This record gives sequence, structure tokens and C-alpha cells, in this order.
Amino acid sequence: MKKRDTVLLLGIFSIIILITIQVVIITGVWREKDEMFNLRYRVFSQDALSNMSRKWSTDGFDTARLLISRYSEKAGKEISALKDDSAIARKKRDVLYFVTHVLDKEQDLSQFLSDYFEKQGIEKNFNNKIVINYFELIKGDTTIPIYVNRAFAERRMLTKENEPPRRLKPKRISEIFVKGDRSEDNFYRLDFEYFIDFTDKRHVILRETAAYLSMSIFSILVVVALFLVTYKNLMEEKRLSNLKTDFINNMTHELKTPLSTITVAGKTLEMAQIREDEAKVLETAKMIGKQSIHLNQLINMILEISMWERTQFQIDKKKVNIEELMNDIVTSFRTGCNNCSSITEKYNFSSHDIDIDVVYFTTLMNNLLSNAVKYSDRDPEIKIDGSVENGKFIISVADNGIGISRNDQKRIFDKFYRASTGNIHKYKGLGLGLYYVKKIAEAHGGDVSVTSKPGKGSIFTVTIPY
Ligand code: ADP
Repeated sequence: MKKRDTVLLLGIFSIIILITIQVVIITGVWREKDEMFNLRYRVFSQDALSNMSRKWSTDGFDTARLLISRYSEKAGKEISALKDDSAIARKKRDVLYFVTHVLDKEQDLSQFLSDYFEKQGIEKNFNNKIVINYFELIKGDTTIPIYVNRAFAERRMLTKENEPPRRLKPKRISEIFVKGDRSEDNFYRLDFEYFIDFTDKRHVILRETAAYLSMSIFSILVVVALFLVTYKNLMEEKRLSNLKTDFINNMTHELKTPLSTITVAGKTLEMAQIREDEAKVLETAKMIGKQSIHLNQLINMILEISMWERTQFQIDKKKVNIEELMNDIVTSFRTGCNNCSSITEKYNFSSHDIDIDVVYFTTLMNNLLSNAVKYSDRDPEIKIDGSVENGKFIISVADNGIGISRNDQKRIFDKFYRASTGNIHKYKGLGLGLYYVKKIAEAHGGDVSVTSKPGKGSIFTVTIPY
């Protein structure tokens, strides 16, 4: 696995662990808050209940019990008179519905609790819930079972003879048990429980845990951001180190070619039969001269760039006629190039003079022209255009070469950058030519841009203000 992938995997793994830990912590905090909430309301409810019985000598269900008792007397008689099983079952359902309804609606406990909570300054809006454990009608010596809560019945079976069956646990965790009641008179026997349930509980807890939540989300975001920055830096470092390696390889290759030509030429000159042929000597000497110039140019380019890194780019501007300068540059480029039959020029500079460093500008143009020739796999056709627009000289060099992919277009002006096809030694170079072009254009207050289509060609446009 690549180092980059390992770092990425490790980072993602650590972030997942961090998020898991945060989720566990938050869930813990949430549960604790939830329990605290329930406990608080349980305590306040018990307080309210004892307050109620002290003040009003009631638990709030007296009216309900009276209504149930009256209804039970009547219902007991009615059921005893029924013979049909399904009619009996229907009546029992009606009785249960009535009892639940009365317990729910004809009680004062909910109102009292709500007022009490309000006085305490805590959330007062809740729903109440009645759970009937069992209900039976009594008619003389007989009892008519109406309903037994299954869970309650199971518990009753598990408890000992004289012990009352244990209370039901609230079904939903948000329900809070307030009161259980067992009552009995001549006409009925009833056991029920009263719960309260806060619909807004989630919001209350969310409000209380907001600080924890936002802190943990913030810490996760910080860690993710740090990871992304570190990863990006690592990638950038890797890219630079790759560029450096490529540059060293390319430079070695670039320097070795003229050097080996010079070595071979030197060896050739040592041969007696060559020395006798004056034309051959002259040709070899010329070759040595040409390669030395090339070597010198390469070394100068590298030295100059390293000097730019340390000092400000110094240019020495002079007013020149731009059209004449362009003609000179292109003519001498044509002379030194043996594959440049088709270079066309079209200028419309309206006889403006340009304030420019002639040496650097010549290098800029030469770099663009030699790239136009170099990055072509057919006979190069180069078109040079020059015009003046909005206070700027606009010079473009268009070729019919291999073109540059969209991705590479963003990078080609970077130092040492070579498009991937350039790195295989088919096209020689150091990845410095366009960096040079950009630096020179910028030093003149201008810029350079590229438009290109792979396989079709490229257009480099230099703008320099006058
Ligand atoms: P070098 O030519 O030494 O590689 P440059 O800085 O001049 O360095 O160019 C950078 C890269 O831009 C080149 O490697 C090449 O891939 C691409 N490039 C530059 N000019 C052209 C062009 N005219 N056509 C196609 N590709 C080009």
C-alpha cells in the first residue's frame, strides 16, 4: 500500500474512533440527563401529591371513583342479566372504556400537578396516561372480572400470597410514574396507575446538552479540518518532491546530451585522419561551440532562477518599437531552427512603442516559440499575432502541436512542472521555460495564459501594459 493511502486510512480510522467516542459520551450524557429529568419530576410529583392531600384531603380521583361506583352498580346488574357471550364481551368492553375515560377526564390531579410544576418554574405541559391493572364488578357475593392487564397478571402470579403485586414499569422510557391506586367498594374493585409523559422532554434535554453537543461537533470539525490540512500538505510535499526528482532526472539528461556530444567531438579531433580533413575539423569545432552554448544556456537558466528566489526580479526597461523587435526575434528564431518553415506573423500594433526589457522579452518569446516547435508530432504551423487593446499589448503564439490537457493547463506555469507526456524523454526539457515566461510577463506588469485542446494545438497569450 502506498504511504499516501496508509495516511488516508489512518486518518479516516482515527476520525471514526473519535466520532464513536463522542457518540458514546453524548449518549451517556443524554441518558444521565434523561434520568435526572425523570427523577426531578418524580420528586416534584410526590411533593405535589402530598401537598394535594394536605390541602384538599383528596388524591384528585374522588369524583372519578364516585362515578365509577354508580356506573358499576348499574353495569353489574346489566351484565348478570345478559345470556349471550358476545353481548357480555361487548358490555365488558364498554365498561372498561367508561372506567378509563372517567379516570382520565374526571380527575383533578393533572391540573394540580401542572399548576404545581408551574409554581416550581419547571416545564408544566405534559400528557397524563391511565393504565388499568385490573377492574372487576362486584354484585353481592359474586365478582365479574372485566379486565386484567396481562403484564400485571404475570407479576401477580410471581408475587407471594399476601404481598400486593408489584407495580408496572412504564412502557416508554419517557413516561414517569406518579401514582398507583387500589380502590374497592360494594360494586367494583379497581387497580390503576397514573403516568405523566412530556412531549417536550427531548427539547428540554437537547437544550441542556446543547453545550456538550456543540463542543463535541466543534472538536470533530477541528480534527477533520486539521487532518485535511495535514493531508493536503503531505500531498503537496509529495508533489514537490516528485517534481524535484523529475527535475533532477531531466536536468541530468539535458546536461548529459551536450556533454557527451562534446566528449565524442573531442575524441574525434584526437584522430589523426580527421585532423588532416580541415572541413571535418571545422564541423566538429562548430558542433562543440553549439553544444557549449546550449550547456551555458541551461546552466544560466538554472542559476538565474535560483537567483530570482533570493532577490527581486530586476528588469532593465527600454522604449523600443514592438513590431521591429518581434520581427528580429522571429527572424533569428527561424535561422536557428531547422524545422520551422511555417511561422506566420500578423501584427497590428498601431506603431506603438513598448517599454520593455529586450533581453528578457526575447527569452520569453523564444521559450514560447521553441515549445511550439518542440511539442508537435507533425510539421509545426505557428501563427504569431500581435495587437493593442485597452492599454495592453497582446501577443499570442498559436501552434498545431500535441496540446495540453485541462488538468495540466493549471500547472504548466509552475516551476519544474512538466505535463505527464513531457516526463518521458520524448520531449526534452526542465519544466522551467513557461515558469520563466510567466515571471518575465509579471515583472512587466503583465500576464500569460493558455488555451489548448489536446491533439489540436495550443495558444499562449502574453499581455503587457504600456
Ligand atoms: P519544458 O518544455 O522544459 O518541459 P516548460 O515550462 O516550457 O518546460 O513547459 C511545461 C510543460 O508544458 C511542458 O512539459 C509541456 O508538457 C507543456 N507545454 C508547454 N508548451 C507547450 C505547447 N506549445 N504545446 C504542448 N505542450 C506544451
